Amino acid sequence: MSRLRIQQLQWNGAIAVIMVCLMMAGSTIAFSLSDYIHYKRGVTEFKRFDAALRAAATISKERGPANSLMGASEEQQPQFAAALKASRGDTDVDIAKIETIFRTEIDASPEMSSAFMAVKAQLEAGRKAVDAVAAIPRDERSGTQIAEAIQTMSRAADRAQDYRDVAGRLIIAQAPQTGAEVMLTSMAGTLRERAGRLGSYVVMMLASQGQARSHYRAEFDNELNRLFEVNALLKTYAPSTLHSQAIAQLLDQVTVNYFAGSLPYAQQVAFELNGGNPPTAGEFTQKYVPGMKSTETLRELIEETALTSLEESQQKALRAMLISALLAVTAISVVAGLAYALRRSLFQPMLAAIRQIDDIAAGDLSEPEAMPHAGREVREMFLRLNILREQQRFKRHLEMERKSMTEELKRLSQTDALTGLLNRRALSEAVEELLAAPRSGFRGFGIVMFDIDHFKSINDRYGHAVGDVVLQRTAQILSPCLRPGDLFARYGGEEFIIILGDATEAVAQATAERLRAALAHAVISEEHGLRATASFGVGWRAECALGAWEELAGVADRRLYQAKRSGRNMVYSSDMPETAAAVSTVGTSRRSAGGPDAA
Ligand code: GH3
Ligand code: MG
Ligand code: MG
Repeated sequence: MSRLRIQQLQWNGAIAVIMVCLMMAGSTIAFSLSDYIHYKRGVTEFKRFDAALRAAATISKERGPANSLMGASEEQQPQFAAALKASRGDTDVDIAKIETIFRTEIDASPEMSSAFMAVKAQLEAGRKAVDAVAAIPRDERSGTQIAEAIQTMSRAADRAQDYRDVAGRLIIAQAPQTGAEVMLTSMAGTLRERAGRLGSYVVMMLASQGQARSHYRAEFDNELNRLFEVNALLKTYAPSTLHSQAIAQLLDQVTVNYFAGSLPYAQQVAFELNGGNPPTAGEFTQKYVPGMKSTETLRELIEETALTSLEESQQKALRAMLISALLAVTAISVVAGLAYALRRSLFQPMLAAIRQIDDIAAGDLSEPEAMPHAGREVREMFLRLNILREQQRFKRHLEMERKSMTEELKRLSQTDALTGLLNRRALSEAVEELLAAPRSGFRGFGIVMFDIDHFKSINDRYGHAVGDVVLQRTAQILSPCLRPGDLFARYGGEEFIIILGDATEAVAQATAERLRAALAHAVISEEHGLRATASFGVGWRAECALGAWEELAGVADRRLYQAKRSGRNMVYSSDMPETAAAVSTVGTSRRSAGGPDAA
């Protein structure tokens, strides 16, 4: 198991939440991005429009110094000429600007191109007319000449406004989001232009007579009506559309300074033209222009506010985009962090706990891997698992102790306490086991029994303890002479039995002889210079059935006693005939072996 089902669920949930976050953020970012691009384009386009607006304003402004130059006295002439030159320089810069900015449109659109050409041509005509009047000596200039030159310059301003309006339409077509701004700034430009134009008509009225003057008077009234209309529209829409209190205040200022100041003055001059003492053009301009300044400021403020409002929308879209991205990143981080924390503090430790429980169940009680990041509750679980493991270890320890005790008991129950050899009961079990096991190439089954000679007299002479030592030493001396599969047991008292599980008759006889000689040659106790001998009886069968071994033991025992009777320290591997000496060949050798070592 590499993952819990609940973890899988949690992972799927986390992935789903992350996907939803990504989709939501993606769509919000896409919307904000498109908004951002939309307003960015609006800002760029509005800036282009603004250039056209400014160009129209500078061309209109150029009329002021032109008027002044035409009305100037001989001494004033150079000063006004310089002012006009500077003003013309400003105009040329602005015209060059719009030519560059609208290059593509001027080249591609006949409407734009002809509007632009009309501006340039009319401006040239206007300037020529102004220069021509200025070139006439002061006294010879007629009011009509001056008025006509002013008119020509006004027409240049009209063409500039036409161009501004064509550009405005183009900009709105390309970036409709700038519509309100374009219209309001156009209106503000128009307000300024009309206020200027109104002043010009008064100057023209002052400079003309009769029918011409009536014509200008009619134009003056026309302008007056348009001026009121534009002002009313601006008051209604500009402050609310551009959300600007400053514009509302400035509009009030325009009302005070211009509509209740300069304008009534211009009307008064226009009304009182034929009677009284009308002001000169210069005097009129000096009194009229300051009140008109607020319309210029208004135009500039509306322009600036419109641009700021578009830029703010652009910034807002950018902020929305960044906030969406930030929120998405935060949400995803939180979900991913949560998934990671759960994995580390809960799911991985739980998997580890399952493994540990499996290990404990399988008997593996080794120290488990540490889980330092596991949550508090999960750590509690590990503590309990440790207790369980500790209990299991203790149980195992007890189990092992019990097992070794049982084994020891078994060994003790099977062992002769004095010699460490098998006891009689264990022997019978071992023999049965030996005989029950099927063996291939079985050569025969032999039993050797022996009894220590004159043991009673050893006991009598050296004491019972030394007798015990003799029994122990006998076992120690003879055990190494046997093969690992042979069984060696104490049969009772000082009598021993050896079972040779797989041996030929000759091997059985030879083994008995070897044992006899080994004991006879060994020193039992250095201290007492004690030696011992034993008498041996051997029984052998080519086959031995289960249960028949005791009978064979009886045979060996019988022969042992025959050896005793024949003088001890001998091996008898066959029965001694009643009448004669032992028939066995060993019987011959027993005599030579027995004699000298006998106790
Ligand atoms: P033989 O040569 O005919 O075998 O003579 P023996 O003296 O060895 O035989 P006997 O049967 O007369 O004596 C055996 C003695 O062994 C009698 C008994 O007290 C002694 N005996 C039996 N078991 C033990 C024992 O565990 N320790 C000691 N020290 N003596 C034992
Ligand atoms: Mg004996
Ligand atoms: Mg005996």
